Amino acid sequence: MPKVAISKIKTPVDEEKVINAVRNAVKLLGGMGTFVKRGEIVLIKPNVVGMAPPPQTTDPRVVKAVALLVKEVGAKPIIGDGSGLTITFPEGRGRNTKDILKVLGFYKIAEEVGSPCEVVPFDEVETLGDYTTYHSRRVKVPGGLVMREADIAEAALDADVIMPVPVMKTSEESGGATLCIKCLHGITDVYTTRPKYHRTDLWQKLVDILKIVRDKVKLGVIDGIKAGEDYLYAGQVDMNVIVAGDDPVSTDAIGHYLMGWDWPVRDVGYLALAHVQGLGEGEMSKIEVVGDRMEDVRKRLKRGSCDIITGPASVGRFPNVVVLEGGACRACHHWTKYVLHYLRSEGVFDKMPMSGCKNLVLILGQDPSIPDDPFELLDLGLPIVWGDCAMFSTKHQIYWQLRDKAVYIPGCPPFNYLGNSEKIIKALGLQPKPSIFAGSWQKQHPPSDIKT
Ligand code: SF4
Repeated sequence: MPKVAISKIKTPVDEEKVINAVRNAVKLLGGMGTFVKRGEIVLIKPNVVGMAPPPQTTDPRVVKAVALLVKEVGAKPIIGDGSGLTITFPEGRGRNTKDILKVLGFYKIAEEVGSPCEVVPFDEVETLGDYTTYHSRRVKVPGGLVMREADIAEAALDADVIMPVPVMKTSEESGGATLCIKCLHGITDVYTTRPKYHRTDLWQKLVDILKIVRDKVKLGVIDGIKAGEDYLYAGQVDMNVIVAGDDPVSTDAIGHYLMGWDWPVRDVGYLALAHVQGLGEGEMSKIEVVGDRMEDVRKRLKRGSCDIITGPASVGRFPNVVVLEGGACRACHHWTKYVLHYLRSEGVFDKMPMSGCKNLVLILGQDPSIPDDPFELLDLGLPIVWGDCAMFSTKHQIYWQLRDKAVYIPGCPPFNYLGNSEKIIKALGLQPKPSIFAGSWQKQHPPSDIKT
């Protein structure tokens, strides 16, 4: 029977208490020696998706605790990730995972753990320019359903054991939370496999990735100090808990339950797929839970949603937006909503009357409900053709007729939220803030930070 341990962290939280909680959780599972042998290489895989501190990224103190335990049994801990930020958004250009790991303190904790602990960013900036390379190898996906082959980070393929150490946070794209299975998305090559299969096929893709490394994933440790909730973890909840388990499906099922899902293996798509495809146990009644009581930790977190709620300001989130869609998938909604949030945070909706534009008219999907005469769209506002599906399906009506009276946003899904925001702001005749294009995190973390 798979086992999951719950270990509450005493408050106020400090490093010693975090380390003790991780130690206690792993001990409840039989100790680190149950999972790792002397001389083995252990990849500890935190969630380092971007430059922001927890709960966007894993708390380094949890990673330090896991690395210390790995070192204690005579194995070599490697802390590694490949941030999607490096290419997904222009703000990541010229920076790589190494910089992010430095700013977030992972190099410092590796030093504190001491030799042979190492930090291994999966990508690297070449000395000439800002071109980033990714250290990966192409492998077959055993029983893959959306992927027959995948490019996987060498550090993951070469490790004897892989330990995902995610932070608890809701994830609207995955339809659940980012926990152990979702954390392993970070072992895919950020240029090739990562951006592909990122639509409604994302759930099965996560399961296919797990198939590649399942035998090596012997322990997962969830950082539940501070959990992220709501859309793009806009809210933060003190959970003060460490969750560790010997089966990533079981660990994620318990993690979701603690975050408020009632029946995770039924309610979370990728967990259900992992369970039925034999990658682990998702039924809570068949998981042994040890340590602190779940009900003493459980909180009902707000979940993020990919839905774009338009309408009057009293009820809707985006009052100056009209959505004309047909057959658009969750991913297009998510990345569109990302831009809308960004535009709102930059005050663009307030400034739209200055540009004479009534609405942003979002055209999405394979069969959007546009009028026969596309010029009627101009009465509604600024037409924005969003995603490859809409680009292809409307090209005769919109591209060939409206030409530069509309904005075109290619991609499937259209990831580049800052570049896409720039296009819209310019089309409205507004002046974008320089910070948009410099990248907000670069502003927060100038190069002087990165040298430390
Ligand atoms: S273009 Fe958009 S709607 Fe079409 S498949 Fe891609 S993400 Fe989905």
